[in-house]
Amino acid sequence: MLDAGFFGRWMRSTAAAVEVAADRLTELDSAIGDADHGSNLRRGFAAVAAALEKEPPGTPGGVLNLAGRQLISTVGGASGPLYGTLLRRTGKALGDGTEVTVAEFARALRAGVDAVAKLGGAVAGDKTMLDALLPAVEALEGAADDDAAAAFGAAREAAESGALATVPLQARKGRASYLGARSVGHQDPGATSAALLVRTLAEVAA
Ligand code: ADP
Ligand code: MG
Repeated sequence: MLDAGFFGRWMRSTAAAVEVAADRLTELDSAIGDADHGSNLRRGFAAVAAALEKEPPGTPGGVLNLAGRQLISTVGGASGPLYGTLLRRTGKALGDGTEVTVAEFARALRAGVDAVAKLGGAVAGDKTMLDALLPAVEALEGAADDDAAAAFGAAREAAESGALATVPLQARKGRASYLGARSVGHQDPGATSAALLVRTLAEVAA
């Protein structure tokens, strides 16, 4: 079972990982965007970590809801509302329980990922964060409920492959789409950060 402490550790370790990866994320965004993805997420997840420390929620849903609200209010740009929606919607779908199973989390994450797709209008293959999130949630749905480390490990591998697979794609959503065919040959920054988010999930579950 996964409790509020687990989700708090996930958010804190994401804040630390984003700090380390910020320059690389910004570099990826300078190739096909406006060079702010690393600084956007660094600011957002620092606010998430601070808010969770100040008033730690007692439920998994509460943790993700608070984290999503912080991202929406502190991150300008496309990724703030999108990641904020992902976490808020996932948190809402988790409900008020103090513990959730891997299968319950997989269902909630599916609702969160669907909300991202609805908000941004993107589908698989559009070269966005969804290209890492969709394979991750699929892997999680297909995993056994009784081994969280294995389930999140499978999700991590799927997300990382999905992020790598954005390199040959042409962007059809977001700023990168303005480049048309020139967006081909670069890894999508948002898919890269989404894979990072799933990697930290696997790390805290290991
Ligand atoms: P901005 O593009 O406003 O500068 P960021 O640089 O923080 O915002 O985030 C860019 C990332 O956001 C992209 O790499 C892409 O993965 C993701 N993104 C942009 N638009 C969409 C969309 N409509 N749907 C899903 N993801 C999107
Ligand atoms: Mg940008």
